[in-house]
Amino acid sequence: MTDSAPVLVHDVAQLSAALDASAPGGDRDGDAAPYGRAVVMTMGALHAGHLSLVRAAKELASRVVVTIFVNPLQFGPGEDLERYPRDLDGDLALLSGPGLLGAADVVFAPTPQVMYPDGEPSVRVCAGPIGTVLEGAVRPGHFDGVLTVVLKLLHLTRPDVALFGRKDAQQLAAVRAMVRDLDVPVDVRGVPIVRDDDGLALSSRNAYLRPEDRQRALALSRSLAAGRDRAAAGGAPDQVRSVVRAVLDEQLDEQVDAVDYVALLDPDTFTEVPDTAVGTAVLAVAARVGGTRLIDNTDVELIGR
Ligand code: AMP
Repeated sequence: MTDSAPVLVHDVAQLSAALDASAPGGDRDGDAAPYGRAVVMTMGALHAGHLSLVRAAKELASRVVVTIFVNPLQFGPGEDLERYPRDLDGDLALLSGPGLLGAADVVFAPTPQVMYPDGEPSVRVCAGPIGTVLEGAVRPGHFDGVLTVVLKLLHLTRPDVALFGRKDAQQLAAVRAMVRDLDVPVDVRGVPIVRDDDGLALSSRNAYLRPEDRQRALALSRSLAAGRDRAAAGGAPDQVRSVVRAVLDEQLDEQVDAVDYVALLDPDTFTEVPDTAVGTAVLAVAARVGGTRLIDNTDVELIGR
């Protein structure tokens, strides 16, 4: 088990050397990890949600690479690229071991110039239909930017498995679609959402919430719980969506907050499920709470009537 600080690298040559030096060699005591190398991609400002991905990665793989990069390509005009929280020293301290059963092995924290030396890339990944709904409708081009950097980081870090949080369920579905459609040689794993004790899904953007916003932000997880209960009681998809919307309308303040969407989705295609659907669906919400955009989701079991 590693518990020393990870090797921190900032450019592609250093990364390549660090990967070669930390190639899985079976030197971890009793190492029975199914994979050689795992990657966890982040934008930094790490919290317990990110660390659960790293912990899951350490259970799956002998070596863990964490990337920290605030990817300009996935931010639209007027979004929070400049003010997005950045704290590399704090991130490194968190990745150095305590609570992780040992440290991450390599941390790759490139600058935009390293990732995009010629400025915006002329070739990029098109996320297709999944990239145009929900988050993709509110944030045009977002998923093209996400998939472009994910594909680059997969090529640069050469992992056997890549872990993504279910917090960003549409992102996870888009990555799975890219890996399937473009035959990218990597396994993809989703990791459950980590929440605060009061139910708020952890997010780097929660740092923007003022105390009074934070209280209203609980409306998202509460609305999802109400929707899940409605489904468990035999509610049809439209009834589930309605109860979620009702909780959001009641608990958010229409003067300062706004609901972007309430959706009940097929987990693979991210299209709305029909009212006759049964089985597992993804219940997803997005809202702006006091100016901070938050997303949350949960799986629900539609049992039909
Ligand atoms: P980000 O730094 O926001 O780009 O997130 C990096 C990775 O961490 C993504 O795969 C996210 O889905 C995941 N993640 C962020 N927050 C959480 C959370 N609360 N629970 C689980 N995974 C998360």
